[in-house]
Amino acid sequence: MNKGRNFSSPPSLGKRLWSVWSTLISFQKRVYGETWPRDPDMMTQKYVMLLTKEAMEVLDHTSYKDHKPRIDFDNRAAARKEEIADVVIYAMELAAVNFSSPEELIQEIERKIGINEQRINLISSRQQIPVQ
Ligand SMILES: [Mg+2]
Repeated sequence: MNKGRNFSSPPSLGKRLWSVWSTLISFQKRVYGETWPRDPDMMTQKYVMLLTKEAMEVLDHTSYKDHKPRIDFDNRAAARKEEIADVVIYAMELAAVNFSSPEELIQEIERKIGINEQRINLISSRQQIPVQ
């Protein structure tokens, strides 16, 4: 199932994450001014709306409408990846409003994965969720 995917972690990934994080913040300051995020509550709402819209655009490159002919999933890969990148960009901007650094974000993700793992262990001890 993971054919063609590279899960190795190049040493520069941390630096690249910081670079992307910093670039996105600088873009936001160019758009909204140096006081960005002046109203963190409002900006949180805005990024949730924006990433939700981008997530819907990912669906445009899948066969989510059962009454329409199935698309060629492989031929839409590039378009899907671009929309997924948009989702992640807005998610990172959302994170930049609410976390002090990518390091703090990663720590929270790791904490939440730990919680999810406990939940999965609890579920799998009772029953497996069938994969369709
Ligand atoms: Mg888009």
